[in-house]
Amino acid sequence: MKNQQHAFDVIVIGAGPSGAVVSSILNQQGLSVLVLEKAHFPRFSIGESLLPQAMTYLEAANLLQPVVEAGFQYKNGAVFRRASRCTQFDFREKFSSGWGTTYQVKRAAFDKVLADAAEQQGVQIKYGYTVTAVNFLAEAVEVCCVDEQGNAYRFYSQFLADASGFGRVLPRLLDLETPSCFPVRQSLFTHIKDNIVDENFDRNKILITIHPKYQDVWYWLIPFSDGTSSIGVVVPPALMDEDEDNTHQLQQFISEATELAELTANAEFINPAQKIVGYSANVSKLWGDRFVLLGNAAEFLDPVFSSGVTIALKSAHLAAGLIAKQVAGETVDWQTRYHQPLMKGIDTFRCFVESWYDGSLQNILFFRQKEQGVERMICSILAGYAWDEANPYVADCSRRLNVLKELCS
Ligand SMILES: Cc1cc2nc3c(=O)[nH]c(=O)nc-3n(C[C@H](O)[C@H](O)[C@H](O)COP(=O)(O)OP(=O)(O)OC[C@H]3O[C@@H](n4cnc5c(N)ncnc54)[C@H](O)[C@@H]3O)c2cc1C
Repeated sequence: MKNQQHAFDVIVIGAGPSGAVVSSILNQQGLSVLVLEKAHFPRFSIGESLLPQAMTYLEAANLLQPVVEAGFQYKNGAVFRRASRCTQFDFREKFSSGWGTTYQVKRAAFDKVLADAAEQQGVQIKYGYTVTAVNFLAEAVEVCCVDEQGNAYRFYSQFLADASGFGRVLPRLLDLETPSCFPVRQSLFTHIKDNIVDENFDRNKILITIHPKYQDVWYWLIPFSDGTSSIGVVVPPALMDEDEDNTHQLQQFISEATELAELTANAEFINPAQKIVGYSANVSKLWGDRFVLLGNAAEFLDPVFSSGVTIALKSAHLAAGLIAKQVAGETVDWQTRYHQPLMKGIDTFRCFVESWYDGSLQNILFFRQKEQGVERMICSILAGYAWDEANPYVADCSRRLNVLKELCS
């Protein structure tokens, strides 16, 4: 065991979006931060369609400029398609104030841009270090990890932020995992050279297509700036053939959605399709004595509204200010200042996700006689402004959606 006695103010597990944002903000506040990341960047990650609300947190972390300069695909909205009908949202017409545009990003590149910028600002990142255990000692938090040669290390800090995403390091080590409120779903996805020739296709928007027969099966098409796209389908396990090859199965599902199949008729698969199963996750608590869970390490709902990275960045931004206070010796009420405000937006998205899968939100989105004020409020949430309580669909989401459901049914 190589004993590293040097102690940091804060150790962060994972250098994904939430790890980069929390460590940058803490570093700017003068704290010493060590990020332990098991992979080497660039590395593939899923979650490629950002929401405009995320830009606020990148800006707060001084990470916006490198993202803007990286040449990612501009994004200003979302198109939903059900059979031959389309409905679209332009995020610039949203109810809430703030950013109305963002990007569609290959996460390998995006995550590297963020992590490199954080490093240039002074954050120390150790790549190839996998966190294996943590001990909350009287004087410090001890973080144990191994490098790729199998060497073991211990690092010490006053505070630990878990930004390990689907790695869910602290939820597993501290037995915090609880079942998700959503049923298990699976997703098949890949990158394609899309070769889309349809002039009406808007590369500035994510395209969400609903399966012609099953309302809980839907596809994403996320165009990138280099002529490629991310394409994927979300499917309940009952409709998946476990013995079938992933690529063939994805192609089969695409062929069942006629308009999507026509749009991508000339596409070439760049990689074999990958599958993720049962990604929705929950925890019994988001914080504890000298630790906090960020992003996917805390809770993951569902991919349908592209909320994952935005929630991850929101959690990182919210937690950073509180970690700085705690390290400075202040008492922090994490329940009222972290858990409750973060859950407000997560619960808004949860409400939207539930009503997407029961079909009622799909009916609302495709309802023909749209009321502009309401449309702008819904648009706000689709743009990620799920914490803006001035929006009635945030303040009282469930009741408002139920009323709308009746009106649109
Ligand atoms: C099918 C699907 C589609 C999605 N689509 C979207 C989308 O379009 N838009 C969107 O915003 N979100 C989407 N998401 C969600 C998105 O992937 C996540 O919400 C987002 O990546 C979370 O960021 P994070 O910083 O919390 O974690 P991550 O991005 O997962 O980063 C965690 C990092 O921690 C590292 N790590 C893990 N374990 C350890 C360990 N033991 N020691 C050290 N390091 C470790 C990992 O290597 C990784 O680099 C999707 C999710 C799924 C499943």
